Amino acid sequence: MMLNNILKEAATVAIAGHIRPDGDCVGSCMGLYQYLTENEPDRQVDVYLGEIPDAYRYLLPEGVIRHQVLADTKYDLFICLDCADKERLGFAGTVFDQAKRTWCIDHHISNRKFADENLVKPDASSTSELVYRILDRKKVSKRTAELLYLGIVHDTGVFQYSCAGPATFRAAAELLEKGIDAPSIIQNTYYEKTYAQNQIMGRALLESIVFMDGACIAAYVTKKIMDFYGVSPKDLDGIVSQLRVTKDVEVAVFMYETEASVYKVSLRSKEKIDVSRIAAYFGGGGHVRAAGFTLAGTPHDVLNNLSKQIEHQMKGDQENPTGDNT
Ligand code: 5GP
Ligand code: MN
Repeated sequence: MMLNNILKEAATVAIAGHIRPDGDCVGSCMGLYQYLTENEPDRQVDVYLGEIPDAYRYLLPEGVIRHQVLADTKYDLFICLDCADKERLGFAGTVFDQAKRTWCIDHHISNRKFADENLVKPDASSTSELVYRILDRKKVSKRTAELLYLGIVHDTGVFQYSCAGPATFRAAAELLEKGIDAPSIIQNTYYEKTYAQNQIMGRALLESIVFMDGACIAAYVTKKIMDFYGVSPKDLDGIVSQLRVTKDVEVAVFMYETEASVYKVSLRSKEKIDVSRIAAYFGGGGHVRAAGFTLAGTPHDVLNNLSKQIEHQMKGDQENPTGDNT
């Protein structure tokens, strides 16, 4: 599949990603936007995304991203990136509904294939890597390369996760050849934290609990604590990865309160547990090693429900050590 087969005659194109956009969502949407504005100037291209983390902003053109939908926005083509189901499109869902044709380009194993046509490749480390595969590589500029690199860096945890395969490194190498400042992208968007972000991470780690003989670790922050440190959900990136690196832990759980007694839950695993299956059980989704969902209840209710599912899978794996569950 190449981009031209997706674009066809579309004169107007909308691009959107999932709610609370992360590095891969922003990188893939804005990388594709940048490529199209440079190489397909006759087409009108608009991007719809939620609030962008401050740290990514220096890589983005100003005033381009639309944060709300005007009435009657009917596009020839809607391209949905890094988004596994219709609900995750959030406010851009109405643009999707009105579009003449819809395409979904994604790497989530849990993708529901909700568009007219769907390019879903769970073998891709990131949607940004997948977008790179369908572009004409010669026409990828330094600006586009920076954005796709941002996405790959974030979804691979700076190339550390198992999703980063040979194809990922080859794509990254080709993006480096475009002259991008890779160390700055990694430092500025991935590792750098504000003082408040570090403080709330410290607090979450300090109050974390381990259970199942140390195989699981969990931490949560309430809305009240977030207000105390003056942080919002987009400032909480990285906490679950820090929990995950704890020695002997297989599953890390991080939760934050989105509204009174409703928690957004992030799951990460190291090598055995398929957290996408657990997230799907609770109505969410994601990848084998990184997934999420939203659940109502106290943090203890959420953890109780969750630990049953984790235990269930751990037991299943013990009875069936090859991991072949078919
Ligand atoms: P995170 O924990 O960083 O929010 O998300 C980890 C992965 O799971 C991401 O790929 C994200 O898209 C996916 N994910 C997180 N929450 C949800 C959810 O509520 N529904 C679905 N379908 N996927 C989710
Ligand atoms: Mn992604």
